[in-house]
Amino acid sequence: MKQVDIVIVGGGPAGLAAAVAAYDNGIKDILILERDEQLGGILNQCIHNGFGLHTFKEELTGPEYADRFIRQAAQRSIPYKLNTMVMDISRDRVVTAMNREDGMFQLQAKAVILAMGCRERPRGALNIPGYRPAGIFSAGTAQRLVNIEGYMPGKEVVILGSGDIGLIMARRMTLEGAKVKLVAELMPYSGGLKRNIVQCLDDFGIPLRLSHTVVEIEGKEHITAVTIAEVGADRKPIKGTEERYTCDTLLLSCGLIPENELSTSAGVTLSPVTGGPVVNESLETNIQGVFACGNVLHVHDLVDYVSEEAAKAGETAARFVRGEIAAPAKSVVLKAEGGVRYTVPSTLDPDRIGDKLTVRFRVGDVYKDAFVSVYFDDERIAHKKKRVIAPGEMEQVVLTGKQLSEHPDLQTITIKIEGE
Ligand SMILES: Cc1cc2nc3c(=O)[nH]c(=O)nc-3n(C[C@H](O)[C@H](O)[C@H](O)COP(=O)(O)OP(=O)(O)OC[C@H]3O[C@@H](n4cnc5c(N)ncnc54)[C@H](O)[C@@H]3O)c2cc1C
Repeated sequence: MKQVDIVIVGGGPAGLAAAVAAYDNGIKDILILERDEQLGGILNQCIHNGFGLHTFKEELTGPEYADRFIRQAAQRSIPYKLNTMVMDISRDRVVTAMNREDGMFQLQAKAVILAMGCRERPRGALNIPGYRPAGIFSAGTAQRLVNIEGYMPGKEVVILGSGDIGLIMARRMTLEGAKVKLVAELMPYSGGLKRNIVQCLDDFGIPLRLSHTVVEIEGKEHITAVTIAEVGADRKPIKGTEERYTCDTLLLSCGLIPENELSTSAGVTLSPVTGGPVVNESLETNIQGVFACGNVLHVHDLVDYVSEEAAKAGETAARFVRGEIAAPAKSVVLKAEGGVRYTVPSTLDPDRIGDKLTVRFRVGDVYKDAFVSVYFDDERIAHKKKRVIAPGEMEQVVLTGKQLSEHPDLQTITIKIEGE
């Protein structure tokens, strides 16, 4: 069996940034395995701009952003295999993959980086009554059809769910000549970024109906209309609020799920909240030498943070291969409380964080003029006011090595939202 220092599963922005960082940290024997016919991941179908403001201080399209990292990998001659599906990862880091040239093959990796991205929540999970006619697409599928394949799914569109891909597709379909009648969102707040609501809906006069859902789909062969209704606090439709919209297309943008079938079969522990692996400060899973980053770890709002996080995974995987990372000696638990849904990482070893550690999290509701507080056991060590904190936007706090060294007996770090 061929031995490889680091095998990276997925050649999207996370896989690429991890590969570049691992290489720059001294490990040259790297292999990226990508099931698609090109590197770049889902960004290849995101032809709108707005990527890279943090990383490159420029506004790039998705393919341009991906290209920056593809070039960095090419400059370092980092090997990759395209059209290669990883089928299995074992607990002892044997990676089984398949492609047309090599057939089925196995690699013994010293470290594995999981960078498989995420997928869209399918309609089947949504329980909308009615037939199953043609004309219903996930927003990502429609994005691929329009931006890569050159097909328009339809002309009269209703969008269910206000995640970022749905918002982006409302604008794209409008620019391509379709009439987008409305975006209906079950929750009382949007799941997308504020900037996307402004630039993709408000600028095009597309209404966003919060606390609304689709309650009926009409059409047997092809969708002809949908009925939406307002929902109450229990998320159940309120009788008498129904409105019917004729349409030939219904796009679903109802959330993303980390792509973790491989992680599960490898024995990686998953978080019930994020659906991604539970990791420590080194972005290492419960299986030593298996690291995770990007959307397979938790769904990010901006790809810039994916790249930043993935670089950290690449760096720590390289240190693991060099034998510089042993099993954690100490484990401080990070707790999400008071509106905070989860934290990544969920444990840390204070001796392994170096100068600083970025802890990322999301909240479960909209908070205005609230504080993000950090507690070391019972002592509040940070308390920062924010004008708005919303579920659609990822938040972060930075912990420093100095703070941790001043609390040698620390057991638990709690991150919570407080009113004052
Ligand atoms: C449909 C869709 C549209 C999006 N649009 C936007 C947007 O407009 N703006 C934005 O900021 N973010 C968008 N995102 C979020 C975007 O996914 C992230 O910003 C970023 O692309 C995540 O990088 P990643 O490398 O973690 O995942 P991805 O870009 O998804 O890359 C993961 C890669 O892993 C590969 N892979 C998965 N499983 C295997 C396997 N078993 N074997 C081999 N390879 C495998 C995939 O083919 C893919 O290339 C979108 C996400 C989706 C799903």
